[in-house]
Amino acid sequence: MSNKSNGAGERRRRFLRMSAAGLAAVPIGRVAFAQGAEKVDENSPTAKALDYHHDAAAVTNPKRKKDQFCHNCQFFQGTAKDQWGPCTVFQGKQVAANGWCSTWVAKA
Ligand code: SF4
Repeated sequence: MSNKSNGAGERRRRFLRMSAAGLAAVPIGRVAFAQGAEKVDENSPTAKALDYHHDAAAVTNPKRKKDQFCHNCQFFQGTAKDQWGPCTVFQGKQVAANGWCSTWVAKA
């Protein structure tokens, strides 16, 4: 075996190790966010402006349909199991899976 193929093999092994480490870090980052991020304050100006509520059942906005929740909104970044999760509208905060706001868009 030539030195050239050994170098390529080493680069390939290094790439695979780094890729595996990167993939393993993704869920850890998500968990760290979920545990560390604050929940949206329902009384904050943004939440009030968007009529956000942790409990969608408390929403009186006529725009909301009864099957609309954060967990089935395009902007919810949590998993199906998460009670709370990140939302791209409320950057750096968590929203309730059973919440709702007027920005709701059906998950694709
Ligand atoms: Fe919930 Fe979607 Fe509004 Fe975010 S944009 S708060 S996920 S309804």
